[in-house]
Amino acid sequence: MDELKRRIQEQGQVLPGDIVKVDSFLNHRIDVPLIQHVAEDFAEKFEGCGATVILTVEASGIAIAFALAQRLGVSMVFAKKGQAKNIGSNVYAADVHSYTRGNTYGVYVSKKYISPEDRVLIVDDFLANGQAALGLLSICEQAGAEVVGVGIVIEKQWQRGSELIRKLNLPLYSAAVIAAVEDGEIRFADDDDEV
Ligand code: 5GP
Repeated sequence: MDELKRRIQEQGQVLPGDIVKVDSFLNHRIDVPLIQHVAEDFAEKFEGCGATVILTVEASGIAIAFALAQRLGVSMVFAKKGQAKNIGSNVYAADVHSYTRGNTYGVYVSKKYISPEDRVLIVDDFLANGQAALGLLSICEQAGAEVVGVGIVIEKQWQRGSELIRKLNLPLYSAAVIAAVEDGEIRFADDDDEV
């Protein structure tokens, strides 16, 4: 998606550990029109998938999940992180290792909000090693719900996430795919294309 790639190129910063910082439009300040355009792109790519719910993980996935859910006319659920104190014990839970934070945390979804009848479209802001996505997939499996696809705003292609998702035969669409960061420069997978 050219508009997104341009924004990453203009405003993205590469931090140590190949972390891409996009606080100005995705991870701190949300550029609402841009995120709505990404949601429209996702809605087109996942047209006909029959999603009944959008699932993400707090906090950075919420904006795109909300925009997509609004576009598709369905609800969204975000997995909560950390201790599940305020949602009780009736939860689906999974452990996620965070690449950016270097720790492992729990993600929880109340059993009330995903059912075996659901067709779940998982979305997130970034796909790196795929651990957050695998945690959400585990929650869907525990719920007996079908996962119809995974939509990612920014994929870091050199990490293992996309390979893991594709091995599970799940449709994966990423609005921008970064092939590599070289000397602090971001190179997209389709860099030969006009941006
Ligand atoms: P994964 O679980 O695929 O390794 O990482 C995905 C999660 O880590 C996302 O939910 C995202 O919040 C965070 N993440 C991974 N890589 C980056 C990055 O380069 N920049 C930012 N801002 N977040 C990242």
